[in-house]
Amino acid sequence: MNMPQAEGATATLWKAMSGDATRFPQLDADRKADVVIIGGGYTGLAAAHSVARRGLQPLVVEANTIGWGASGRNGGVVSAKYRIAYSQMAREHGIQVAKAMYRLSHEAVAFVQELILDYGLVEAELTLNGGIRCAHNGRAYAALKEELAWMRQELGEDAGRLLDAHEVAIETGSRSFVGGVISPGVGTLLPYQFVCGLAREINKRYPDTLFERTPALRVEQRNHKICVYTPYGKIQADQLILATNAYSGISPVSQKIKRRVIPFRSSIIATEPLAESLQQRLLVNDRHYGETRRMMRWFRKADRRFVFGGRGAFGKHDSAAAFNALQRAMVEMFPELADTRIDYRWSGHVAMTLDALPHVGRLNERVSFAAGYNGAGVAMSTLMGQLAADFALGSNPDVALLEGGRFRPVPLYPLREAGIRVVAGWYQFLDAIGR
Ligand SMILES: Cc1cc2nc3c(=O)[nH]c(=O)nc-3n(C[C@H](O)[C@H](O)[C@H](O)COP(=O)(O)OP(=O)(O)OC[C@H]3O[C@@H](n4cnc5c(N)ncnc54)[C@H](O)[C@@H]3O)c2cc1C
Repeated sequence: MNMPQAEGATATLWKAMSGDATRFPQLDADRKADVVIIGGGYTGLAAAHSVARRGLQPLVVEANTIGWGASGRNGGVVSAKYRIAYSQMAREHGIQVAKAMYRLSHEAVAFVQELILDYGLVEAELTLNGGIRCAHNGRAYAALKEELAWMRQELGEDAGRLLDAHEVAIETGSRSFVGGVISPGVGTLLPYQFVCGLAREINKRYPDTLFERTPALRVEQRNHKICVYTPYGKIQADQLILATNAYSGISPVSQKIKRRVIPFRSSIIATEPLAESLQQRLLVNDRHYGETRRMMRWFRKADRRFVFGGRGAFGKHDSAAAFNALQRAMVEMFPELADTRIDYRWSGHVAMTLDALPHVGRLNERVSFAAGYNGAGVAMSTLMGQLAADFALGSNPDVALLEGGRFRPVPLYPLREAGIRVVAGWYQFLDAIGR
C-alpha cells in the first residue's frame, strides 16, 4: 500500500491564503456508524452532511488530511457543465435525458451555494459572476453559437450570451480569441477553504464524524454489515460510500472505482500579485474563463494573482517542463504577463471516464459510490456526494446519464498510461490544426 502520499506539489496558493489550521483526529478505537465513507473530499463530506442531516451517524475516514486530494487543490471553477454538449446528449438519448442532465448540473451549483450559506463558509469566497468560454478559432466559435441557440430553443436557456472578439478582449485582456459565450449563475470559490470549512463545520455540528490520517485498508461484508479495517481500528456500519475518485489506487478498497477511471494530471500556476495596471486590464469582471481547445486551459484571478491551469505532466511525477509549458501558454495568451513571476505551481489528478461523464450509484446492496468528474467536479462532486448518500439510504433518485450502471471498466487497464499519451497527443494535434 502506498500511503499517506506526498503525490504532486501540495504547496498551493489556496493553502497559503488559508488561515484554517483545524485538524481532525486519527481513528483510535473500533467504532460503529450508520454509513462509513472513504475519502475526505467534496464527495465524502457532502455525503456525510446528507447522512447526518437525516439523523443518522456518518463516519468519514481520510487516508491523508481532509482536502488533500483534488478538493483542496483544484482551480475553484464552479461550473454547470459536462464534457459532452447537451445537444449531443439529446441526439443520442432524447431531449428528456438532456433536460434531466441540465437540471442536475444547475442543482449542483445551487447545492454548493446552499452548503456555503448553511454552514456560513464566507472564507470560501464563492462569487457567482459568471463564466466565459473563449473560442480559440472560427470553427469553435460557430459550434458555441450553435449550441447556445440549441439550448435557448430546447432547454429554455435564455441566460447565456454570445460575445464577439472585441467583447472577449475587453473581458479578458487577451486578443487570442475570436469570440465566446458568457454563462451567468456560475463562478469561482477558494477550493481548499471550501473543503476545510465544510469539514470543520460538519464536525462541529455532528461531532466524531471525521478522521484523518486513517487509511481504509480492507473492507469485509458479512452478516448484513460492512466492516472497514484501518491500521487504528475497525468501523462497523450498515452502508459504505466510496468517495475516492482519482485517488482510488491508495488501497485495494476502491479497486472497482480505480478500474473505471483514468487518472489524468492537471496542473496550475499562480503569479505574484499583479501590478495595478494589469489588475485593471486582465479578467476585469472576476469570472472564470476557459478556452475551447480539447486540451483546455482555464484562468481566473485570486488574491490579486493570475491563476492559470491546464494539462500536467504525464506519468507519476510533476515535471518542471510541464509547468514551463503552462507558463508559455499563459504568456502566449497574455503577453503582458511575460515578466510576471510565478509564485506557485502545483498539480493533482482528475478522474476521466470512458463516456466522459461522472457516475453515481450502487456497487451492491451495501456499497455506493460517486466518481469520475472529468475535471469538472467542484459543484458536481458535491451534488454527487449527496446523491450517493441517497442511494446508500435506499432511495433511487433520477440521475439520467450519471447512472452507475453506465460506469464501465476501462479496457486494457494496464495500458492506460500509454493510452493517455496517445489520446492527449492526438487532441493536441487536432487543436494545433484547428479541428
Ligand atoms: C489541479 C486540478 C484542478 C481542478 N480544477 C477544477 C475546477 O476548477 N473546477 C472543477 O469543477 N473541478 C476541478 N477539478 C476537479 C475537482 O477538484 C474534483 O472533481 C473534485 O475535487 C473531486 O472530489 P472528490 O471528493 O470526489 O475527490 P478528492 O478530493 O480527490 O478526494 C478523494 C480522497 O480520498 C482519499 N482516499 C483515497 N483512498 C483512500 C483510502 N483507502 N482510505 C481513506 N481515504 C482514501 C484521498 O486521500 C483523497 O483525499 C480539478 C482537479 C484538479 C486535480
